[in-house]
Amino acid sequence: MNEKTESAKTQETVIESFTLDHDAVKAPYVRLIDTTQGPKGDIISNFDVRLTQPNEEFIDTASLHTLEHLLAKYLRPQIDGYIDCSPYGCRTGFHLLAWGELSAHDAAVALKKALEQTMETTIEGVPGIARKECGNYLDHSLEGAKSWAGKILEQGISDDAFERHLV
Ligand SMILES: [Zn+2]
Repeated sequence: MNEKTESAKTQETVIESFTLDHDAVKAPYVRLIDTTQGPKGDIISNFDVRLTQPNEEFIDTASLHTLEHLLAKYLRPQIDGYIDCSPYGCRTGFHLLAWGELSAHDAAVALKKALEQTMETTIEGVPGIARKECGNYLDHSLEGAKSWAGKILEQGISDDAFERHLV
């Protein structure tokens, strides 16, 4: 085994989101995890969009799934360089990725508006919920998505994970 293989093998993979103290945060919040520069110089901003308090409250899968479809619709036009917003397996929030540098404040403002738009959405306004368009088209709840959106807006969205600093 050469030196390079040896070091790659012994180097531990550190995943930032697993090093976060999930008891120390105060949800709902948007946190900039990091900005990463690719080999050609492009920058990607990576956000922790935490909607419920970890290990206390979890969004049911149907509501989370509909929120995912609605955030794709409502966040994209608000965020320059929007790449993706995908739900966490723990069902407490989403991972948001965008090209370029974007602040947690601006991402939180966009999220707030997207949740306000969610509150006004009728079933015709939910994108991609036909069988052909979705991998689990029966597992949706617009009513649930709206109820969570209302609750999150009522609590307020912070642009700081550890101190309540509402946008
Ligand atoms: Zn889907």
